[in-house]
Amino acid sequence: MSFKIAVLGGDCVGPEVTAEAQRVLVAVSKRFGHDFLFTEAPVGGAALDAVGVPLPDETLNLCRNSDAILFGSIGGPRWDDNSRFDLRPGQALLSLRESLGLFANLRPVKPYPLLADKSPVRPEVVRGTDIMVVRELTGDVYFGQPKKRWVTPEGRRAVDTMDYSEREIARIVRVACELARQRKKRLTSVDKSNALITYRLWKEVVIEVCAEYPDIELSHILADNFAMQIVSNPTRFDVVVTGNLFGDIFTDEASVLAGSIGLLPSASLAGLPTGRALGLYEPIHGSAPDIAGKGIANPIAAILSAALLLRYSLGLEKEARAVEHAVSATLGAGYRTADIASPGSTQVGTREMARQVIDRISTKED
Ligand code: NAD
Repeated sequence: MSFKIAVLGGDCVGPEVTAEAQRVLVAVSKRFGHDFLFTEAPVGGAALDAVGVPLPDETLNLCRNSDAILFGSIGGPRWDDNSRFDLRPGQALLSLRESLGLFANLRPVKPYPLLADKSPVRPEVVRGTDIMVVRELTGDVYFGQPKKRWVTPEGRRAVDTMDYSEREIARIVRVACELARQRKKRLTSVDKSNALITYRLWKEVVIEVCAEYPDIELSHILADNFAMQIVSNPTRFDVVVTGNLFGDIFTDEASVLAGSIGLLPSASLAGLPTGRALGLYEPIHGSAPDIAGKGIANPIAAILSAALLLRYSLGLEKEARAVEHAVSATLGAGYRTADIASPGSTQVGTREMARQVIDRISTKED
């Protein structure tokens, strides 16, 4: 089958790990007889340097006309402090998500038992963790208006507005309920309803929508308690649904269960995962300027994001599993990038880690 894939590497380690994920997709296309047409486009700081805006129209149009988007990461010290807020790299991702209606961000957290020694959390606490975090992606303080900064007689002042509508909450909760149905049928909604009126509405709508899913066991947890439970008792969670800001923060926190932020992938979708809809796929990590250009970034989060792309946008489940199995097999053979290295393992760089995965896909050792 033939598919169009937009490749937006972005900044710092973004292009490094995205190139490896693309190579993995090429190996998949060869083994399974698909035709993937890749088109690269600038985004973030790279686009600011090239054409003066973080999301050029050409890049957005390419994304609109593709079957899926393979995304790296954007940002870096060169651009992040730009005094014009709309000219910061991060704006590109917000605009992309909003323009393409990508409101559902799926972030699976399933630590590899082989890497149990890499988490600061005790292995017996981490063992068995398998969480699907469903983060709302086009609302919350990231998008609420007004968003402004000004000078008062007392000094500088800035406002971000937290804003959620019933419609925005209901549609993300439906996605979470449908995913829970395919899993252990347990849904936890993370809110801050004791302090924020937006999260009061959130909780009400969660209860109303979940009434349509009597087979799902629903629980509510306050965000501060969740911040503690996610690392002290992670196996109690199955599907977790939460707002944009909490979802962002708590998945970085959850990455300590896995052992490195370089391991966690994500999918951003415009609705339920149907296997045939445009989606954006990116590691949950940022552009890691501290290790950029050194060839040591862990490409696994990007490669697993490519597996989600195969599953959720191209409907290629068998191929997605082949990639996931090849990653497990590579870790099983003892290959480790610096962030997950341990005594006795074979330490490799970004390129070699991906090459090991590709070898296992190509030789059907997955
Ligand atoms: P970060 O996620 O880039 O890095 C945090 C730490 O994790 C760093 O020590 C980094 O070296 C390490 N790390 C990240 N990815 C890794 C990988 N693949 N392998 C090994 N180690 C890895 O977060 P940050 O330092 O707070 O942000 C850096 C830049 O990234 C900022 O400009 C920020 O705005 C941007 N950012 C972009 C995105 C995105 O593109 N979606 C998300 C978050 C942050």
